[in-house]
Amino acid sequence: MTTKQNNSIENQLVDRFGRRVEYVRLSVTDRCDFRCVYCMAEEMQFLPRSEVLSLEEIYSVARAFVELGVNKIRLTGGEPLVRKGILTLVEQLGQLPVELLITTNGSQLPGMATELKRLGVDRLNISLDSLQEDKFKRLTRTGRLSQVLEGIDAAIEAGFERIKLNAVVLKGRNDDEVLDLIAFARNKGLDITFIEEMPLGAITEHDRAEMYCSSDELFEKISPVYPLLESVDKTGGPSRYYRMADSHSKIGFISPHSHNFCSECNRVRMTVEGRLLLCLGNEHSMDLRQVLRDHPGETEVLKQHLIKAMDLKPEEHHFDLNDETPQVVRFMNMTGG
Ligand code: SAM
Ligand code: SF4
Repeated sequence: MTTKQNNSIENQLVDRFGRRVEYVRLSVTDRCDFRCVYCMAEEMQFLPRSEVLSLEEIYSVARAFVELGVNKIRLTGGEPLVRKGILTLVEQLGQLPVELLITTNGSQLPGMATELKRLGVDRLNISLDSLQEDKFKRLTRTGRLSQVLEGIDAAIEAGFERIKLNAVVLKGRNDDEVLDLIAFARNKGLDITFIEEMPLGAITEHDRAEMYCSSDELFEKISPVYPLLESVDKTGGPSRYYRMADSHSKIGFISPHSHNFCSECNRVRMTVEGRLLLCLGNEHSMDLRQVLRDHPGETEVLKQHLIKAMDLKPEEHHFDLNDETPQVVRFMNMTGG
């Protein structure tokens, strides 16, 4: 990505530990057409409209971040593509000098992929946990595999490059599909990342500790079939990437439990209620909705708050799968993955 780099603006977002925040993930809705077992409870209470930021408010925050030196924005959720009017926001963000990314479950891509590309989205991450219809249904509760596969094809057809699949791996549920998912990714020319489940929100569907499947276990399973070569790619996040000698596809592992990445952390997140989260695994936050609604249109005030919020970024987080009361009570659909 060279055309939209935010080179002209000096980054003013530096925390107490000298880490520069260059990457913002914006959750644009807490709602979703799926109910993945690791992300949501079956019956979810979603936010009332008055508590949700308008698309204009979300754009104001994005622009303020960019003016402070952020060069990468990811839209997530919930399912970002089910938010009403999302294409209007994408169009505005597409004109900012940042890399614009979306994480999606893929269900809306058959009808939207071409438009997203045209409006300036640079890259897509598409979640795919299983290639078997019945298993896919059990994991997503309401998802349809054929729709997602069609969405992946639509994204390729639309000309998206470096599409990345995301798969959360649960022991006994889909860990037997890891090699099939890699074969699928290789065949389509996509990258794939395997994610360890994180204890965000209290769920009853399964015991997170029992179904924990470490990236190291997956690595052992994959290497005899696809020897993995170290890659120099750094993300400032929990992902580590590997190459294969005979394919352009990369394999990543997101290992919040087994790999500490806090010292390189370059990102913050905002929930759709406007809560700026300074760390995925901690509750340190700032209420930007209050700032936006007390000072409408005052970009400078907003920017001063963003700069001040950096002091709240904690040094690190700890996840404990055996802790029955999760340290972080928000579900992933609130946080934005
Ligand atoms: N709905 C979109 C999707 O599924 O791609 C975007 C939001 S979703 C919360 C973002 C990512 O977080 C998805 O790849 C999902 O699999 C992952 N995720 C959700 N809950 C998780 C959890 N408890 N632990 C680890 N990853 C999780
Ligand atoms: Fe929806 Fe994404 Fe959460 Fe699944 S992981 S329930 S698709 S927000």
